[in-house]
Amino acid sequence: IKCDENITKTELVAIIRELNFDENITGILVQAPLPSHLNENEIFNLIDPNKDVDGFNNYNSGSLFKDNSGIIPCTVKGIGYLLNYYNIDVASKDVTIIGRSNIVGKPLASYLINKDATVTLCHSKTNDLKSKTINADIVIVAAGHPKLIDDTYVKDGAIVIDVGINKVDGKLCGDTDFDKLKDKCSYITPVPGGVGPMTVAMLMDNLVEIAERRSLNG
Ligand code: NAD
Repeated sequence: IKCDENITKTELVAIIRELNFDENITGILVQAPLPSHLNENEIFNLIDPNKDVDGFNNYNSGSLFKDNSGIIPCTVKGIGYLLNYYNIDVASKDVTIIGRSNIVGKPLASYLINKDATVTLCHSKTNDLKSKTINADIVIVAAGHPKLIDDTYVKDGAIVIDVGINKVDGKLCGDTDFDKLKDKCSYITPVPGGVGPMTVAMLMDNLVEIAERRSLNG
């Protein structure tokens, strides 16, 4: 549903309510960023938690905080899927995450803590970033800062997951210097590729999961 950017809160609330009650609708996603007159969190919280395919409302954020039992945000789930696919067990691993946004860094920290990782969460006010990454087994970057992390930031054999999506000179790139890192890491995700397509795939995965949960609950 494409809405006018001047849509009022009342009009948007009415659309979401209608979708919440429509039996034929399995999942609802409100595409951010929203125009500045609308409060994103307030709008996300209007979505029925059982249709919250993005996993961003407070109910699903709370479940993630406790035990990963709710609908997991797509980027976080995609990173979990990648790690699982390559048989990388995060239990007892030192994981440094760069970025503390509500859509990537913070939910990812909860998700990995629940999987017994030891997590360090860094952000733009972190002192001496390199000292937090250099001993990490896994470094996950979601800062939106091109080439922030190069080979001087990680130890030999580290795993690097690049969430960043930036455009430099018309070309897509991540938050890591892939060419400098690729021979030092045991695994590294590329941009484009890597986490981005996993996020899209996990949106579909969440939709199927919601449909399955719904049929189980009658
Ligand atoms: P955001 O701007 O909300 O948050 C960025 C975070 O990075 C902040 O917590 C900030 O403190 C931290 N940061 C910025 N510069 C830093 C620095 N120099 N040192 C340490 N910390 C620093 O961004 P977001 O929504 O979390 O997205 C981050 C990046 O990931 C963006 O490039 C975005 O496009 C991308 N992204 C990709 C996917 C995907 O599917 N691949 C999904 C979501 C976001």
